[in-house]
Amino acid sequence: AGVLVVGVRVAPLGSLHVLVLVEDRTQAKRLEEVRRDFVANVSHELKTPVSAIALLAETMDDAAEDPTAVRRFAQRMTRESQRLSALVQEIVQLSRLQDADSRHQPVPVDVDEAVLEAVDRTRLVADGRGVRITTRLAREGDGGPGDTPPAEVWGDRELVVTAVRNLVDNGVSYSDAGTRVAVVVTVVDERVEVVVSDQGIGIPESEVGRVFERFYRLDPARSRATGGTGLGLSIVKHVAATHGGEVGVWSSPGEGSTFTLRLPLRRAEDDGDGT
Ligand code: ADP
Repeated sequence: AGVLVVGVRVAPLGSLHVLVLVEDRTQAKRLEEVRRDFVANVSHELKTPVSAIALLAETMDDAAEDPTAVRRFAQRMTRESQRLSALVQEIVQLSRLQDADSRHQPVPVDVDEAVLEAVDRTRLVADGRGVRITTRLAREGDGGPGDTPPAEVWGDRELVVTAVRNLVDNGVSYSDAGTRVAVVVTVVDERVEVVVSDQGIGIPESEVGRVFERFYRLDPARSRATGGTGLGLSIVKHVAATHGGEVGVWSSPGEGSTFTLRLPLRRAEDDGDGT
């Protein structure tokens, strides 16, 4: 619901490669659908860790004599609380996105800068997992500084940082130690493109169109272990739509995934009218 697949393309190198572009055209209609399902989904997702914590507390009480068991339960309670807290944070972000009226006045956003900040915020987790993050910014592009227009879009800086961060976070979470996540910013055809590619587990062709759905997870166990909520990509999709852009994914199981976020380039004539 709310997701329109605008193109599926098979790459020349192998039939497993699939490109799916997801674009939102009728924002009003989409918001209506989103609101309808959201409350039901949210209460379900919140209940799961809350019941787990309650159950663990009860069991821990029964096992009070056994220090090893107590420690194990305590660790699981910590994990469930972290998940709960991540969920609440992302739900707040999503509802802020959905509430168009409360949106900040659009400002010029330097995507190079936003990417650097997003990568900075992910660095610690990446180091912990042994995954290397590399960046190539638009201003470092082949054309040289004089030829490259600044990679600026018109919108909400925090949201752009969040979107890129979610993509980089995923690249790190769904990859093994010793691999690399590459983030490349370019300006192509009046658009700023952020491409995040990993060498991770990839996404099967049959699931690739669903990953942008709220709370959708291919492997809930793995996603939970890495602190995933199933909301990250739906936030990316919303940020893209809010900025008049789009997000696509191209993946090959066992080889990796590439997510592309495209946002309209800020042009000089956009200045002043704030739209
Ligand atoms: P989560 O919080 O679970 O990561 P997302 O909305 O960010 O939720 O992603 C939805 C699902 O898509 C994930 O649970 C995972 O199964 C899959 N996914 C997302 N990004 C990647 C990636 N880079 N590589 C492999 N699978 C991914």
